Amino acid sequence: MLANEEEKPLAFWQGADRHEQQERKTLTIILKSGGCSWNRCLMCSYRHERYTGLSREELATRLIRQLRFVADNVQIKEMEIIKLYTSGSFFDPDEVPPAVLEEAGALFRGKIVIAETRPEYVNQDRMDDFISRIDDGSNGKPLYVAIGLETTNDNIREKSIDKGFSFEGFKQAARVARNSGVGIKTYLLMKPLFLTEKEALVDMKQSLTDLVGLADIISMNTCTVQRGTDMERYWKQGAYRPPYLWSVADVLANAPMEVLCDPLGGGQSRGAHNCGECDREIIEAIKYYSLSGDRSVIKAVTTKECPCRDEWELVLSQEMPWCMPLTR
Ligand code: SF4
Ligand SMILES: [Zn+2]
Repeated sequence: MLANEEEKPLAFWQGADRHEQQERKTLTIILKSGGCSWNRCLMCSYRHERYTGLSREELATRLIRQLRFVADNVQIKEMEIIKLYTSGSFFDPDEVPPAVLEEAGALFRGKIVIAETRPEYVNQDRMDDFISRIDDGSNGKPLYVAIGLETTNDNIREKSIDKGFSFEGFKQAARVARNSGVGIKTYLLMKPLFLTEKEALVDMKQSLTDLVGLADIISMNTCTVQRGTDMERYWKQGAYRPPYLWSVADVLANAPMEVLCDPLGGGQSRGAHNCGECDREIIEAIKYYSLSGDRSVIKAVTTKECPCRDEWELVLSQEMPWCMPLTR
């Protein structure tokens, strides 16, 4: 019987993020949901985490229980920002039924909520409704939608990620969000499949330039090789290497705006890494910059000496692309 079962989210943790020039206390919650409607991205393993075969009512019940479990185990009133992830779209009503948004709205009223969604689920009614639930007047922008744009290049998003929407689709969602007073958080992905190190570096720099004025918050994910993904298959064949930390530091040191970055899996073979000797210092510099906005340390590590720096420069100049057809 559902009635007496406890339901826990996939994960939840407390931390800190830089937000509007300040360090803020965050609560991140990863909810198990009905699952991503797209379910195809080449690097994504989260999409396998889903309930199957539940009615909408049962799905809503399970999700509401997850939220209540968090509320029972965390001092919500001490948190400033609530980050809601579903491994899909918080605003897809088939994945997260409306009753769950009502519950979340009541639990997180007065907080800044950052909720992940694909752009096709950003519509004015949903934005207005959720804002009215969480907004008690204490935050200028109480809601941000977090969209995994990954890159502003439509060809790379299609061929290297299979993301299923365009930059124009993202911009349209951003316009709808803005009309409702909703902020835009944009996730970018450093080095998806099939790009050389140089191509990945150029793509990220161009994406950041393209996003000036379009996104309120930009978070750069360094690609990690997750289990059970197409990316893992290529990685095991030696056909993919996650980005060098040198590339990550170079992007952050020269970005035209502040960029958040937490290099998950950094220093390991499945995550952004260098030679193993210099990784820790660069990762610490990235984390420090991400939380403080102070670029001095990240700029300093870009000129650090290590033998693997020559290797990185050689890779940038010598690695050849293996092209994919532009047409079918
Ligand atoms: S849209 Fe997001 S959750 Fe869905 S498959 Fe792509 S990366 Fe995974
Ligand atoms: Zn090194």
